[in-house]
Amino acid sequence: MSGVGNDRISQIAGQSRFPEPSCDHARVTAKPAPSRATCPRCLRAQKTCLCALVQPTAHATEVLVLQHPQEQRQAKNSVALLRLSLARCEVVVGDRFEPAALQALLHRPGRDTRLLYPDVPAAPAPAAPTAAQAASPEASALPVRLVVIDATWRKSLRMLLAHPLLAALPRLSLDAPAPTRYRAIRAARRADQVSTLEATVQALAQLDGAAFDGAPLLDAFGRFVAAVASRSQPSGSADAGADAGADAMVRGA
Ligand SMILES: [Zn+2]
Repeated sequence: MSGVGNDRISQIAGQSRFPEPSCDHARVTAKPAPSRATCPRCLRAQKTCLCALVQPTAHATEVLVLQHPQEQRQAKNSVALLRLSLARCEVVVGDRFEPAALQALLHRPGRDTRLLYPDVPAAPAPAAPTAAQAASPEASALPVRLVVIDATWRKSLRMLLAHPLLAALPRLSLDAPAPTRYRAIRAARRADQVSTLEATVQALAQLDGAAFDGAPLLDAFGRFVAAVASRSQPSGSADAGADAGADAMVRGA
């Protein structure tokens, strides 16, 4: 990890820190107290530090990740790599948010907020704006602030249903979720369930268009998945092969 002495990366990391504890989200957890065994940048144990994998990736859409507290402690979680690779990615940990604090988090002047979440029967997307509302040229031209819930499927649904402000946001659904390379380390319950990093990268590709190139970050994520899998299964050469296959499919999609 000492090999990552890049000024640009440090600067990006500085911009994408957790909010300072002075914020008024009473139920939002601050970052864990750093210890000698914790990397101060990715906030993971030194032995699982992922800073060497960080892939600075240009993007126009802002990203806000609402991270369930249980995800923060997961060695398999992909959000630290996402946060450090995107200059405008804010991560807030919590599963219960006061309406006023959540409202302040979700909306930014000059940004059109959207929630990355499928339109599912258990949580239907709000009705599309009327033609008159949608006709405002300023509104349609605004860059997006994308809200992403980082939790298991069931917990993300619970967070959505518990917060009317989240449920009321216009949704962004992924066009056709790419095959995940996450399966080597985490059971995906549904075919279209991908890691938070992969889903966010795909959403940025939809929103930012051709200007966005997420392939290097997805490659870095593939190396992260392989590293996690090799730590949990020291003789995991078969997993490494399977991961290389998923790698090719995602890139070709
Ligand atoms: Zn680190």
